[in-house]
Amino acid sequence: MNVRRLVVSLAMLLVAVALLVACQAPVVGPQQAASTELNVLCTPQVEWCEGMKTEFEAANPGITVNFVRMSSGEALTRLRNEKDNPQFDIWWGGPVDSFIAAKNEGLLEQYESPNYANLLNPELMADPDKHWAGIYVGSLGFATNNNSGVTPPTSWDDLLKPEMEGQILIAHPSSSGTSYTALCTRLQMLGEEEGWEWMRQFAGNVLQYTRSGAAPGNFVGQGEAAIGVLFSHDVVNQINQGAPLTLTFPEEGTGFEIGGMGIIKGAKNLDTAKKWFDWALEPATQELGPKYNAFQAPTVKGATPSRPELLQVNLIDYDFQWCGDNKTAFVDKFTNEIAGADSLKE
Ligand code: PLP
Repeated sequence: MNVRRLVVSLAMLLVAVALLVACQAPVVGPQQAASTELNVLCTPQVEWCEGMKTEFEAANPGITVNFVRMSSGEALTRLRNEKDNPQFDIWWGGPVDSFIAAKNEGLLEQYESPNYANLLNPELMADPDKHWAGIYVGSLGFATNNNSGVTPPTSWDDLLKPEMEGQILIAHPSSSGTSYTALCTRLQMLGEEEGWEWMRQFAGNVLQYTRSGAAPGNFVGQGEAAIGVLFSHDVVNQINQGAPLTLTFPEEGTGFEIGGMGIIKGAKNLDTAKKWFDWALEPATQELGPKYNAFQAPTVKGATPSRPELLQVNLIDYDFQWCGDNKTAFVDKFTNEIAGADSLKE
């Protein structure tokens, strides 16, 4: 090898080594500061949202939680509108049908929480691609005012009886995940054609539609209507507060929700959102519900349900994927063909 070739070879070797070192060296730049804030889009009742904020802040000194309470459909609309500039970091609560719809639209961030391992039934209670996880379970029931003179219904078809005309309150499925669970329950139980016909007849007996899913329990307790269709744990909450209500279930089968949680795509406080996500899947966190009048069943091992009897009823094999995939189409059909959402009862 002549001297010139040796120098060229050495130079090439030096360049190669330099490139290798550069590729392996850590990128030097400003350290990503830990977030001190978390913006939660909270769908359950305000009391529970407030309680979770307080508990999380106590467990994580230095982090401030801001939350806005919004029903499921409203939350989904808000996330769509903010897609390019998300204002929330995490969405907590409300039936997972809306989380499935949100995932389909690219609104949720994938997150491999170590606490997925805590779930009682990961197949049912988590997105297979890890965009959402279940945080509670609840069944649909009927609330009847004890002073109304109406016999508490024990079948969906009891709600179609002529004497029920103008006696029923339920939320609107465009704003409420509770109401969407009821709609999809009927479509699944009867098949689409018969299901839509059932919904048409049912709508003839509805006095008014409310914005939030739990509101019918409150109004029926005050005697504004005889019957409310809502989640059974929300009826229990009203009864505990002294409302004169009887809780019943449809004997032929009722739908149920898995309440969901998901990190928002593009969350500005991703680190604190992950902290909340992990924390919400701890048994001790899920056992906090009753302290804030939330009687949903937990989704994780080691947490004791406060009202196990609410799930010891005839539950249908609710198809979350089908209901989530069709949410926009079914809600639009309901709004266009059965009842508009212009004047919902607050
Ligand atoms: N509020 C309470 C108390 C609930 O139990 C649930 C269930 O997920 C919801 C709200 C859901 O909200 P909405 O039906 O208003 O979308």
